[in-house]
Amino acid sequence: MKYILETRNLRVQYGEIAALRDVTFRIAPGEAVALVGANGAGKSTLIKTITGLLRPKDGQLLLDGADVRTVPANRRARMGIGYSPEGRRVFPGLSVRENLEVASFGSRRETRRLIDDMYAIFPALKEKETSLGWTLSGGQQQMLAICRALMSRPRLLLLDEPSLGLSPKLTDDVLFRIPEIAKAGTAVVLAEQNLTKALEVTDRAYVLRVGSIVLDGASSDLRSNPTVRSSFLGGL
Ligand code: ATP
Repeated sequence: MKYILETRNLRVQYGEIAALRDVTFRIAPGEAVALVGANGAGKSTLIKTITGLLRPKDGQLLLDGADVRTVPANRRARMGIGYSPEGRRVFPGLSVRENLEVASFGSRRETRRLIDDMYAIFPALKEKETSLGWTLSGGQQQMLAICRALMSRPRLLLLDEPSLGLSPKLTDDVLFRIPEIAKAGTAVVLAEQNLTKALEVTDRAYVLRVGSIVLDGASSDLRSNPTVRSSFLGGL
């Protein structure tokens, strides 16, 4: 199988402290893959290393089979990596439409078409088209943050804890769009503490514990795996 992104024996450190050890992770085009684990397991660290915000100490990081460890984050974005960081980064003083416009690399015409695609995925944003970022609910801001990442037409979308701080209903509104985004051709990596939901909306999953991958497999299999729940995530 041809992977869009692959890490091999990746090691990432903060100073002398290892945050990721021997992490081997793969995702193919069109797949939705969850990265689950408790607080501090290393999910954000892996996502940031893929974007280029953190530099691995050791191991390989391949995008389309080529090592990109030394490629800076802005170039990786151009190469097809979209990133929605933890904490819903949107421009508070711009309208929903403006937030989307400034995230596009395309022509005006293409930008208009992409914005329509975003409104089709999240109709709630269309209704708020002229509202300023800061006036949106948490869930709407999260939807907008995901759409901002999609406006660059990434082939790989990295979502860091999109359900953080959302009600169960809004979490569903956001996470249940993931299979649709993957089916349309964008591979999605979903870092989540909400294990049940993450396994519902992805094809495969990796379980991280204190910096190491301790289990991986089809999300449907992991859903019924008692070890995942009890040992790794304290019954979450
Ligand atoms: P969370 O859901 O809480 O963000 P996470 O699984 O994303 O958890 P990381 O944020 O990747 O975990 O953190 C992994 C480990 O690295 C933790 O032990 C954390 O304390 C540590 N860590 C994260 N950022 C830094 C930093 N800037 N400096 C030093 N240690 C860090």
